[in-house]
Amino acid sequence: MEPRHSNRTTAERDIDSVLHPYTNLIRHKEVGPLVITHGQGVRVFDEAGKDYIEGLAGLWCTSLGWGEERLVQAASAQMRKLPFYHLFSHKTHDPAVALCDRLLGMAPVPMSKVFLAGSGSEANDTAIKLIHYRANALGKPAKKKIIAREKAYHGVTVATAALTGLPFNHRGFDLPFSGVLRAGCPHHYRFAQPGESEEAFSTRLAAELDALIVAEGPDTVAAFFAEPVMGAGGVIVPPAGYFPKIQAVLDKYDVLLVVDEVICGFGRTGRMFGTETFGIRPDMMTLAKGLSSGYAPISALMVNERVYGPVAEESGRIGVFGHGYTYGGHPVSAAVAVETLNIYAERDILAHIAKVGPVLQDGLAAFRDHPLVGEKRGIGLIGALELVADKAAKTPFDPKLAAGPLVVAKAQNHGVILRAMGDSVAFSPPLVISEAEIAELLRRFGKALDEAH
Ligand code: PLP
Repeated sequence: MEPRHSNRTTAERDIDSVLHPYTNLIRHKEVGPLVITHGQGVRVFDEAGKDYIEGLAGLWCTSLGWGEERLVQAASAQMRKLPFYHLFSHKTHDPAVALCDRLLGMAPVPMSKVFLAGSGSEANDTAIKLIHYRANALGKPAKKKIIAREKAYHGVTVATAALTGLPFNHRGFDLPFSGVLRAGCPHHYRFAQPGESEEAFSTRLAAELDALIVAEGPDTVAAFFAEPVMGAGGVIVPPAGYFPKIQAVLDKYDVLLVVDEVICGFGRTGRMFGTETFGIRPDMMTLAKGLSSGYAPISALMVNERVYGPVAEESGRIGVFGHGYTYGGHPVSAAVAVETLNIYAERDILAHIAKVGPVLQDGLAAFRDHPLVGEKRGIGLIGALELVADKAAKTPFDPKLAAGPLVVAKAQNHGVILRAMGDSVAFSPPLVISEAEIAELLRRFGKALDEAH
């Protein structure tokens, strides 16, 4: 039988065979797939050889850019030596141990143990399961509700999608996962009251959180999940004083804090972890993306003794900690992650971000006067521009116009790949980007913005 793909282009075969994530499946054929063939530095190339500056580092992950030969070497050497082994039933291997060891050494607050998984969703899903397991271990089976925020993004498994606070992750899906409470989104520009300062807004959000916990009953509330900077929700940088005020409320009611560092971890906000940038004290931290610079799928969940102690005891009582993924701590992914962390340290990635971060932020701020731009947000090497129909009134565009996706589509024509989060356009380039490359990225984007006006 003829192979199905004889004489047909990658794009044609894609349309016939691939079910695409985060895509309007009905429109896929009409829009047509963009086939990326290779990458180098901060650029990727399509089949025609056209170059695109990757303004979002793929999916906020390819921190070292494309073509990093040391990661290729780390993967191939590990592939040859031990392509697969697992961590189930007391087994282990050096790449996983080296990585867990390294992460504990880097942890911004004391952490006890590291659990390895394959994706950000899996790491957060594991955190949810540990919250339940711990509550049972402590003899408090009612203390299991989890608070997540409007516009949060914590993944797409059944449980993590329920924590995610974005309507399109819920619409059309039945999510049979209960016990999720919703706290307010800390977006000052959109949700502060007229004249309310950032500090006052933070104080109000903390008071609302306090009231929520009291209304539900503190004996029923187990944990609060938060991204330091909310990514998929539109790059929301917390207002002044936010995390210390929230943390004080959580401490008052013995509620665990899970910090989702999947985007912010490894330099994105200017410090190694968003936890440090914003003065947070997590009980659990989830990491992915920049952990391996996106070169291999891997994630990590770090837990402190407050979590690990009861969980370990419960596993002793039950006889096993009955959770784990076949590919959790995959040796090739772990070896790539360790080498990624080596490169961050050797090249002093934080010093580089301190130098080029302000170039990105100033460059984005220069668009503030543009008639379409309502707000510029950002810190370190992550940022966003929120597009509005009316600057003075902050009026959003009619959603039917899809202003964000429109500008992003135009930007793609001009050779820069970005992502729209509603009407906010997000920027999160590879951390290795140079000043000249930032200037070029913004120049290409500026043409698209002008065209959209
Ligand atoms: N948490 C955050 C903050 C994310 O941005 C993402 C993905 O973008 C996830 C979790 C889920 O990670 P994954 O797509 O690897 O499951």
